[in-house]
Order: sequence, then C-alpha cells, then structure tokens
Amino acid sequence: MLRDCNFSTTVFDDLSEGHEAALLGAPLVKGNLLNRPALTATMRELRPAAVIHFAALCYVGESAREPSQYYANNVVGTLNVLEAMREVGCKNIVFSSSCATYGEPERMPIDEHAVQLPVNVYGRTKLVCEFLLRDFSNAYGINSVALRYFNAAGADPSGRMGEDHRPETHLIPRVLMAAAGRGPMLQVFGDDYPTSDGTCVRDYIHVTDLADAHVRAVRSLLDGEGGFRAFNVGNGHGVTVREVMASAAKIVGHPVPHAMVPRRPGDPPVLVGDCAKIERELRWRPKYSDLDSIMTTAWRWTSSHPHGYEDA
Ligand code: UDP
Repeated sequence: MLRDCNFSTTVFDDLSEGHEAALLGAPLVKGNLLNRPALTATMRELRPAAVIHFAALCYVGESAREPSQYYANNVVGTLNVLEAMREVGCKNIVFSSSCATYGEPERMPIDEHAVQLPVNVYGRTKLVCEFLLRDFSNAYGINSVALRYFNAAGADPSGRMGEDHRPETHLIPRVLMAAAGRGPMLQVFGDDYPTSDGTCVRDYIHVTDLADAHVRAVRSLLDGEGGFRAFNVGNGHGVTVREVMASAAKIVGHPVPHAMVPRRPGDPPVLVGDCAKIERELRWRPKYSDLDSIMTTAWRWTSSHPHGYEDA
C-alpha cells in the first residue's frame, strides 16, 4: 500500500515469523532488531524519512511462559530502533501498539483516555514501548504515532497475501481451517463469559484498513505533526466467537466443527475500540466494517492457499 502511494520502502526483518513472498518484491534487509550495529548500519545507508515498526512477539499465552524473550524482543528491540533513529537523525516513527495495553477496562467501547493496565506480559511490553516513544519524543524530538490495533483480521482482497502463522493461534484462521477440514476442530475458549452468548467479544479490523491507518499516520508525521500520539484502530463494534463461527458457516456452506473448552488464561471478556479519534484526526474510516466482508477475504486466502506461503 505504501508503494501504491509512491513511498519507496525497504523492509528490515529476520523473517522469523514473516514470509518473504508477502513482500511482493519490496527490498529486504535480513536482520534482527537485537543486532543494533546491523540496524544502525541499515538506517545509515537508507536514511529513512520515517520508520514503521511492526516487529514483535505477539502471543499472550507464550508471553506468560517466556517474559524474558518478550521484553528483550519487544522492548529492547524498540529501544534499538529508536537509538538507531537518533543516530541517523530520523524523526518519525509509527509503532504497532495494541488494545492489549488497556487490560480489562470497565467502560466499552474503549477510548484512548482509558487507563492502560495490561493483564498479560505481551500487553505490558507494548505499554513499555509506548512509554519509550513518549519519552523519546519529549527528550529527543522523535515524533511518534502508536496505533493500538484491535484484532487484525482478513486478508488482502487480491488474494495475494494472508495469514500464515505456524502454529496458528488466531480465531478466524482457525475457524476457517476447521471449516475446510484442514485443522483440528475449533476449540471455543470459554462460553461462560458475561457476554450476549457467553463467548468472548472482540473488535475485528481488516488488514487493508489497518494498512491505510499506517499510511495516514506516516503522512501526518511527514506533514509535521509532532509529539507522541496514540490512536485506536478498530471497527468500533464487537463480535462474539459464536458470531465468527456463524459467519464462517454462511460463507463455507456448512457448520464449523467445534468443541467448548475452558477459558484461555489472560483473555479479557470484551475488547471493543472507540475509534472516533483516528476518524477525526487522520480522516481514517474502515472500509471493511462488517464481519462477513472480513471473513470473505480471509476465506479467499485460506481456500486458495492450503499450505500458506509454501516457504516453510
Ligand atoms: N479463540 C477461541 N478459539 C481459538 C482461538 C481464539 O475461542 O482457537 C478466542 C479467544 O479466546 C479470544 C478470541 O477468540 O476470545 C480472539 O482470539 P485471538 O487469539 O484471535 O486474538 P486475541 O484477542 O487473543 O488477540
């Protein structure tokens, strides 16, 4: 999407989770954020006008078992990005933050003024990164935008890019894989939550809409908006796990094989974003605002790529 908007981009990634095929030919420097000399050398060579920092470990359950890895990768990795930027005088950064920084807020939908009290290690690492960004903005004039993603979902509408995590833990790909008979039956983590049908509520936001939010954030930084700013990025309405299964059943043409199992530790019952701020300040608005359209793009990818990117 950046290229479509005439930005020239280079990707710095160790491909520990990502897939080269998903770059669609964009230049790649293979490296890890914990290798600060390599990162600084790359920045020195490229002299970027702005950095978009996505790289992170992002599994709630794993973060409880491996906090050391999560703080090193997510927090030290972000510190290294900021230090490398300081060294070459790059002043603009967009950061992938998360609704997990809010924890279990009392009021829904959540706006950016809600208290951030994360309930898992992953959320805490993202919150520490936001503090880093604020402090580096105040002290060193590095301008930043933290985009607090709700649940990223769906696939590129062209069918060229989609989710391929190994192992896959996210709800929508697991629902669709179970529906396609390619994975185990879906386990529904808890049906005794205080929600309309007992299952957890999330705010699913299409990846194309998320990408558009990044482009707008970069533009606003390049237009001179300073300081640290945080924006929720979601659809602003909640969907239960059962509603995701019902949408999949409609698209695939048969029910999703599933079993009810106990709650997954660390899962807040409801997370829904109030996204008025990004609509107002960056003029961003989701185009894939209904669940069926998100699920349809995800199904197009899942059904046409039975082995994901085939680069494992
Ligand atoms: N979930 C589920 N079964 C699965 C995967 C997820 O019931 O196999 C539920 C999970 O408990 C949560 C929601 O689906 O309420 C979204 O989970 P996901 O892992 O996709 O995203 P998260 O909200 O953890 O970032």
